[in-house]
Amino acid sequence: MEQMRYEAPDTLDAAVALLAGAGGDARVLSGGTDLLVQLRAEVIEPALIVDIKKIPEVRTIAAEGGGFRVGAAVSGAELGEHEALKKAWPGVVEAVELIGSTQIQGRASIGGNLCNASPAADSVPALIAAGATASIAGPNGRREVPVEEVATGPGKTSLAEGEMVVSLLLPARPPRSGDAYLRFIPRTEMDIAVVGAGISITLDGNGTCSAARIALGAVAERALLVPEAAEALVGTTLDEAALDRLARAASAACRPIDDKRGTKEYRIKVAGVLARRAALIALERARQN
Ligand SMILES: Cc1cc2nc3c(=O)[nH]c(=O)nc-3n(C[C@H](O)[C@H](O)[C@H](O)COP(=O)(O)OP(=O)(O)OC[C@H]3O[C@@H](n4cnc5c(N)ncnc54)[C@H](O)[C@@H]3O)c2cc1C
Repeated sequence: MEQMRYEAPDTLDAAVALLAGAGGDARVLSGGTDLLVQLRAEVIEPALIVDIKKIPEVRTIAAEGGGFRVGAAVSGAELGEHEALKKAWPGVVEAVELIGSTQIQGRASIGGNLCNASPAADSVPALIAAGATASIAGPNGRREVPVEEVATGPGKTSLAEGEMVVSLLLPARPPRSGDAYLRFIPRTEMDIAVVGAGISITLDGNGTCSAARIALGAVAERALLVPEAAEALVGTTLDEAALDRLARAASAACRPIDDKRGTKEYRIKVAGVLARRAALIALERARQN
């Protein structure tokens, strides 16, 4: 077996140069809660591991444009302790805080959750609902992409060779808006979502929904933004009829698999139920803002 090389550069440029120079056989190491498991199980055998945790840009949370730029390697625990971010985007923080246990929270990052590209990744539907964008660095410079365009399928991303996610931008939260994330798991904790639903809504001065974004996890090959579900809410006060339309649209968007956690039919049904419940939590939060 070939020896695996480990590098821990302290600049972004050095990290990108290492990744680009490895010819596709390199992996970024953030918290390692997915990567180390995959290495141990010999699912992956990269020639090079690039640990990004010494790079200041990927380890910080900074206010930007009324929102927040969160470094890709910021841990769940660090995010949960950031009071201003938690107040602005409680749905994103509650999604991140669902990942694993206290020990996992100390390491698991938002960038790792996104780039591992599990269809059931908890933070991703919440980030999509929030309208977050990913800042990606690579040998050809920087680019910004909506979070929904990063994962393309199980374990697959749209990142090109030599590229890495540097940070995620959570936009300024509009007034009278709120977000929420709910997942369903067969156990009470430490399990993978059967369905996850992230939602963000904005109300006008009369309490009518003026904008909405809804995303579902674990019901397709990647997290899905569901514009039809958002359309069911816009122009309404989230009355029963609108919530029924939302639930139907969420269920209709699902193209899940059967597995030991649930059948296709079950996931489709649960997606509608969770979208509806998450909408009511987001509504309550929007009314308080
Ligand atoms: C016990 C346990 C429980 C878990 N529970 C949950 C759960 O409830 N919900 C959930 O969603 N997940 C869960 N996970 C999975 C895992 O903890 C999360 O996906 C976590 O967010 C991964 O982040 P990380 O920093 O550890 O990523 P890493 O393991 O460091 O990386 C994951 C993948 O992303 C790539 N990567 C990391 N950062 C970047 C970057 N900046 N740019 C490009 N590529 C990058 C790596 O190369 C690797 O392929 C669990 C894992 C364990 C071990």
